[in-house]
Amino acid sequence: MKRSKTLVSLVIPCYNEEEALPFLYAELARVSASMPDRAFEFILVDDGSSDRTREAIVSLRARDARVRYISFSRNFGKEAALLAGLRASGGDYVAVLDADLQDPPALLPEMLAAVESGEYDCAATRRVTRKGEPPLRSLFAHAFYKLMSKISDAHIVDGARDFRLMTRQMTDAILSLAEYNRFSKGIFSWVGFRTKWLEYENVERVAGQTKWSFWKLFLYSLEGITAFSTVPLVLASVFGFVFCFAAFVLAAVVIVKTIIWGDPVAGYPSLMSVVLFIGGVQLFTIGILGQYIAKTYLEAKGRPVYIVRESSE
Ligand code: UDP
Ligand code: MG
Repeated sequence: MKRSKTLVSLVIPCYNEEEALPFLYAELARVSASMPDRAFEFILVDDGSSDRTREAIVSLRARDARVRYISFSRNFGKEAALLAGLRASGGDYVAVLDADLQDPPALLPEMLAAVESGEYDCAATRRVTRKGEPPLRSLFAHAFYKLMSKISDAHIVDGARDFRLMTRQMTDAILSLAEYNRFSKGIFSWVGFRTKWLEYENVERVAGQTKWSFWKLFLYSLEGITAFSTVPLVLASVFGFVFCFAAFVLAAVVIVKTIIWGDPVAGYPSLMSVVLFIGGVQLFTIGILGQYIAKTYLEAKGRPVYIVRESSE
């Protein structure tokens, strides 16, 4: 079938978004109506919601044939939902956005214009404010972006959201990364392409609750680091080198001291603290090693990233 209009796919992961969906759909309908020369498909991915999100999506589908959906057999996480949505997308341009309207669809015309001009392959967004977010969370987020850009080749812009619009080519490049541990912010940056950054003020979610606790975000950031950098693995060698050097210096000091003053045996407390310290460093670095081995183990199993229970096709 030949299409006359450019097709834009919107991929939207939804987990317990029953309350936000009506607002989202109204906004999508409004924005798509403002671009009559484009065709749209709204790919809603129900990530094993425990509320009535799936039912809400099915009834949207009944009302509007542009709505397509995939429903998972359980909650697999936003990364899995994104992957499923991207795989299902057939558009010439593909956009990814949250269901809670924190990624304002009103920016889509501007994003599309940037990419269609041919000057960019991707229009991405970053929040320039973190208004309405706990300060500790912002602090850790800033530290994470700094660290990430130092130790990996995925340079993630501070405040970058997953909200972006890409060409088919870039979408296919992202889909060609077959890893199980998916860290989208890193993947988007890793595949390269010319990205235009649009800035906007933080918007609070329209309804419902955030699914990310501080702890969950913290673990997610560690995931990002292990997925895109092997620098932590070097730590063991660095510590080893530093301690060997310190040991030589200490040995020299002890020898000289013994020759000059004799050897009164003392220093149980200092010995204890050195032993404990080195033991701690060893466990710490073995722990890091363990993280990478665990990731390798999960990748080696080759399990699917998600299981679909039901879909509109
Ligand atoms: N989400 C998901 N699966 C999850 C958690 C979240 O699909 O396990 C979706 C959620 O429905 C929303 C987006 O990911 O569309 C972002 O989640 P949320 O708004 O809770 O995160 P925040 O904006 O607070 O970082
Ligand atoms: Mg949100």
